[in-house]
Amino acid sequence: MSAPVYVEDGCIGCEQCITACPFGAIDMVDGVAVINESCVACGECVPACPVSVIVMTTSEAKVLEGEGVMVYAEMSNGSLHKVSFELLGKARELAAPLSEPVYAVLVGSGVEDSAKELVDRGADKVFVYDDPGLAQFRDDPYSDLLTECCKEEKPSIFLVGATSIGRSMGPRVAAKLKTGLTADCTSLDIDPESIEYVIFNHMEPESKLLQQTRPAYGGNIMATIETTNSTPQMATVRYKMFTEASIVDTPKGEIVNKPVEMSKLTDRIKVLGFEKAGEQISISDADIIVSGGLGMGDPSGFDLMQKLATALGGAVGASRPTIDEGWINYRHQVGLSGRTVRPTVYLACGISGAVQHQAGMKTSDVIIAVNKDPDAPIFGISTLGVVGDLYDVVPGLIEKLKEQGKDA
Ligand code: FAD
Repeated sequence: MSAPVYVEDGCIGCEQCITACPFGAIDMVDGVAVINESCVACGECVPACPVSVIVMTTSEAKVLEGEGVMVYAEMSNGSLHKVSFELLGKARELAAPLSEPVYAVLVGSGVEDSAKELVDRGADKVFVYDDPGLAQFRDDPYSDLLTECCKEEKPSIFLVGATSIGRSMGPRVAAKLKTGLTADCTSLDIDPESIEYVIFNHMEPESKLLQQTRPAYGGNIMATIETTNSTPQMATVRYKMFTEASIVDTPKGEIVNKPVEMSKLTDRIKVLGFEKAGEQISISDADIIVSGGLGMGDPSGFDLMQKLATALGGAVGASRPTIDEGWINYRHQVGLSGRTVRPTVYLACGISGAVQHQAGMKTSDVIIAVNKDPDAPIFGISTLGVVGDLYDVVPGLIEKLKEQGKDA
């Protein structure tokens, strides 16, 4: 199959394509332009050519190289972040119909036990970069090592959690590998044609396209994006979207220790120290969330939400307009542009239930809504609904909990 961009006979050697190419993917060889391996088929060179000899084929998808689904196993305070298990679960699901291996890559210091945990949960190979100099996350050395790992192991798919770390580091790795990345995915699938090909022909399909789905246009549509010309196909994936990989009966995976030469890694940040955030439970980890919306009328409504959350041992969530109004900090925001949560119980007080809010909480096990308006959309997804004023309902609930000996 021909390369997606090539130079036909007739190049006059003007070098205008070299100036136009943002990826340094064109060399002059014997006075004519030649496309090199850095080409990502962005097409910038095509209109830059004054004699129209640069051609880009759009009909043929490039054969995607690589094998295996790799996940970045993120460490958080000395243990694996749960998103790593969710990614591993999804990776096993994606790899199974293609009969491909599942890899995890781990970076940190003293991470042997975490590597074993990944094997126990079904990773076929865990690549480990372990060094005291890697104890704290820094974008530069971590992204250097992940890039090196992808170049050596050549996975066809590489998944990273859309955590603060993943959102910062994932795009750096993608840029270093000159591949595409879809950020903040909520769903991932292998295109059905590839799977059919494997089933009916018992051989590798020409492409194993990962269908990467994420909300677009303010959550009004779900966009499915494919990386058709480069590997690995990369995606950052929201926390709490997928089920964690279960423990396998007879783990057969292998731990591969990779050499680390700290002096060869880029490192432009010096960590001076850490200041721990408040002891409040994060909404991402909470089992019970009490969320307040604009219906509270003013910021003091969050004192009431906090009292109820404390009595229930949960965390306080919020709708976006309350953050925009400055009533509460951004880290409490639930929804499309906030966090996705999946608690056992989600209590929505004075929240209408706009699609953007629902996008972040609708997979909660039990949803309870308190709203004055019986037609509020939140009731459409609620397990239990209370039509009433939150300032009557919530204090009553707190009183009942106090009677049962709960602190509020
Ligand atoms: P409202 O829609 O104003 O609803 C208030 C509700 O309170 C009403 O249903 C009302 O009946 C009820 N109420 C009023 N008084 C009382 C009372 N005393 N007792 C009980 N009920 C009462 N929103 C998010 O939440 N999270 C996001 O991440 C997010 N991302 C967005 C991203 C984009 C690109 C866009 C365009 C929007 C986003 N939004 C997001 C905003 C979203 O569209 C809604 O505007 C928002 O969720 C509404 O917040 P609300 O329910 O608090 O307020």
